[in-house]
Amino acid sequence: MKTPSATVYRANILHFLDDPDIHGEDAYQFFEDGALVVEEGVVVAVGNIDDIERILPENINTIDYRGYLIIPGFIDTHIHYPQVEVMASYGAQLLDWLNNYTFPAERQFEDKTYASNMAEFFLDQLLRSGTTSALVFGTVHKQSVDAFFEASERRNTRMICGKVMMDRNAPDYVCDTPQTSYDDSRALIERWHGNGRQLYAVTPRFAITSTQAQLEQAGRLVREFPDVYMQTHISENKDEVALVKTLFPDSKDYLDVYDQHGLVGKRSVFAHGIHLNERELARFSETGASVSFCPTSNLFLGSGLLDIDTLEKEQVAYSIATDVGGGTSFSMLTTLHEAYKVAQLGGHKLSPLKSLYLATLGNAKTIQLDDTIGSFRTGNEADFVVLDFNSTPIMSLKQSKCKTLAEKIFAMIILGDDRAVKATYIAGDCKHNRDGVRT
Ligand SMILES: [Zn+2]
Repeated sequence: MKTPSATVYRANILHFLDDPDIHGEDAYQFFEDGALVVEEGVVVAVGNIDDIERILPENINTIDYRGYLIIPGFIDTHIHYPQVEVMASYGAQLLDWLNNYTFPAERQFEDKTYASNMAEFFLDQLLRSGTTSALVFGTVHKQSVDAFFEASERRNTRMICGKVMMDRNAPDYVCDTPQTSYDDSRALIERWHGNGRQLYAVTPRFAITSTQAQLEQAGRLVREFPDVYMQTHISENKDEVALVKTLFPDSKDYLDVYDQHGLVGKRSVFAHGIHLNERELARFSETGASVSFCPTSNLFLGSGLLDIDTLEKEQVAYSIATDVGGGTSFSMLTTLHEAYKVAQLGGHKLSPLKSLYLATLGNAKTIQLDDTIGSFRTGNEADFVVLDFNSTPIMSLKQSKCKTLAEKIFAMIILGDDRAVKATYIAGDCKHNRDGVRT
């Protein structure tokens, strides 16, 4: 380290190198009196302050967060930015919820100004929750995705987004056609994929709202642009699974509908996957496609309890996500809290360290970005969050009784939410500060 442009952040620092359920204490690094060194938006070093001080030039800029916990920014692998106002809508399960609440809300994103305002609001909510990257659905309207990426570009956040493709079983005002969905998606890929920190995901909403002809166009995009992502939904709700069966009688099962169109691979993220059969699980494992676990949404919409134990046994990759607006919170802490309860109902434990691993490096791995974000590996983009062990009176009380790191993390997950996020940094710049001033 030669230049004085670096900044040192002092705090308790935790990040993961691997899955703690498999590698135990070798899977993470925790520095009680730690230092994270950032220069030009990337991590240049992390370690104990005593070790780091030896390699630092004098008079280096230091930001003191001692008493707080710095971890890599949270990554949310499934969320809908146009559904912010749909959160907390009463009394429906998936298919009615889409028709009664979601489609009318998404219609408004035809208006670019409306979309831009909502994109700004949405990204502010992510940052105040400590989420620095997300895999995001737009609406069917091309301009909704332009509005989103323009807002993300202004914040320099690493985001993945896509225009929803849907050409049936929905009101005309949120439908495209196979050809326009291809043309619009292609134009968006050419404009945004790899533009700064923005990345594109081909986004058929789900099998129910796409014809075979449209799924063929989605497959064509994935073939023509092999480094874009593919995001969609699968097996969230039993009525949905039954309807897919009647719409695609020639497919072996729900996953096969996507598979037949070349949409199942390492860069494919399928939200929910609660009611998958054995063949589908095996196919997930074989292809490296991943399931995105959305506990607050699954509970809120009464969709079911994802069995992550089975996913582990079958070696199916999975990540964790909010699924706002079916989900009820932007906070990944709250999401991990609800994931713990879902695991409890399934008779198994989701450990605190595994939980934080999932929300950071684990999620980065499922979207093939673990060499860029998700940990403090040297050279990674410096997206991080400063968490407060004393964000509420009950959090303070509980933390004072905790003896181990795992206990402290567990209390943070169960009692924490956006109030526990003191600050959020994007590529080394503070983009959210709870208390209004930088310390
Ligand atoms: Zn969703």
